Amino acid sequence: MLEKLSAVLKKTTDKIANAIFLDKNLLDSIIKDLQRALIEADVNVPLVLELTQKIKKAALDERIKGLEKKEHIIKLLHDELISILGQKREIKLEKKNIFMLVGLFGFGKTTSAIKIASYYSKRGHKVCAVGLDVHRPAAAEQLKQLGDKLNIPVFINSEEKNPKKIWKEFQPELKEYDLILVDTAGRDALDDGLIKEIKDLNSLIKPNEILLVMPADIGQAAKTQAQKFKEALNITGVIITRMDSTAKGGGALTACAEVKAPVIFIGTGEKSIDLETFDPESFLSRLLGMGDLKTLMEKIHSVVDEKQIEKTQKRLQEGKFTLHDLETQLDSMESLGSMDKILSLIPGLGKVKEKIPEAQLETQQEKIKHWKHAIKSMTEEEIENPEILEKQTSRIQRISKGSGIPTSSIRALLKQYKMLKEMIKSQSFLQEGSLGQKTMMKLAKKFGKKMKF
Ligand code: GDP
Ligand code: MG
Repeated sequence: MLEKLSAVLKKTTDKIANAIFLDKNLLDSIIKDLQRALIEADVNVPLVLELTQKIKKAALDERIKGLEKKEHIIKLLHDELISILGQKREIKLEKKNIFMLVGLFGFGKTTSAIKIASYYSKRGHKVCAVGLDVHRPAAAEQLKQLGDKLNIPVFINSEEKNPKKIWKEFQPELKEYDLILVDTAGRDALDDGLIKEIKDLNSLIKPNEILLVMPADIGQAAKTQAQKFKEALNITGVIITRMDSTAKGGGALTACAEVKAPVIFIGTGEKSIDLETFDPESFLSRLLGMGDLKTLMEKIHSVVDEKQIEKTQKRLQEGKFTLHDLETQLDSMESLGSMDKILSLIPGLGKVKEKIPEAQLETQQEKIKHWKHAIKSMTEEEIENPEILEKQTSRIQRISKGSGIPTSSIRALLKQYKMLKEMIKSQSFLQEGSLGQKTMMKLAKKFGKKMKF
């Protein structure tokens, strides 16, 4: 889903965060990449230009400097992207709910009706679907088949050609459900016939929500569609389907935001589970491949904590790496917040994160805590020269008793320390005698990768 855009956004924020100086060349290249990616994702050109102009202006503003400027630009980029993605609208369920799905032929109404039914059914609601698409012979059957697969009760009458009659016919059965999904007929275009049919159904059914279904592959054309449907009918929200099968999803999403038609769900595949609620904030986080704005800010700080870099540089140049240094690393990891956030901060580890179960992440955090306790029970000599612990295992016993941390944890700590030390030693940069910010990044990356999960 919008993989290309996602890749460029990640690259852009990385470039800003890693830059020592945000000079004009860098800025120009960032802006060019951004523009190209957004336009490729089908975001409307004036919107793209407006966004990139704002960023350029902020970047060239002499009054803001250094870290502050980076923060400012990242925040701006983040906020502008959120604003073009639109407002979040969450559906609040009432005691009784009827959602009517409308849209043109083949836009994904039937599929979405069952996906939404399944979504709420899994959350404990009593849900069913009613098939009122009387225009296509196989439409009702399709709804029924999809529903049967997921144990969603579906009410259809393939013989009846009047959708209002079908609705009335099933009234007794429908009483026991707290959410009813109504699948309606489409047309090739929004014509008078379709408008009349939906208006009639609307006054009979009185749905809580009329949801317009549109596929992402129509891109910016979603704007005219949404506008027209909104004018003709009281559309309360939009479902964008087929987000998985196009690079144009940015167009459909931002187009809906432009006409203030809130996107509520997005369809991300053909299967019933391929449905997500749409929240611009978390959608963007995912595109950026990390947590929220705070995480982004932390990323900048973690990268440009210049004093810390200098200190570590000096120690490493002297060939020193003690448990104190490891402790500093552990501290900074803790201060950054939860382990999963740290994982998404380390370039290349965002993906790994998805594969690590929550429980394991917690264990990792526990481990860090243990290690820090253990270090507190060590003598300065042991901290400066942890090798002696391996030679005299009675020391490990003592530390274990003193800190209440099992000896196995202490051994794991020593192992981690040794591994890092070797890694640092083997780095060619030590021979070169100079450590730039890039090298530090590399080191951080390696550090992350070598952490065992
Ligand atoms: P309707 O005519 O509006 O009822 O559209 P359908 O629900 O029959 O869907 C039309 C086609 O789009 C079907 O082949 C669906 O499997 C497919 N479809 C619907 N939603 C999605 C989606 O989110 N992703 C993908 N890849 N296909 C979808
Ligand atoms: Mg259909």
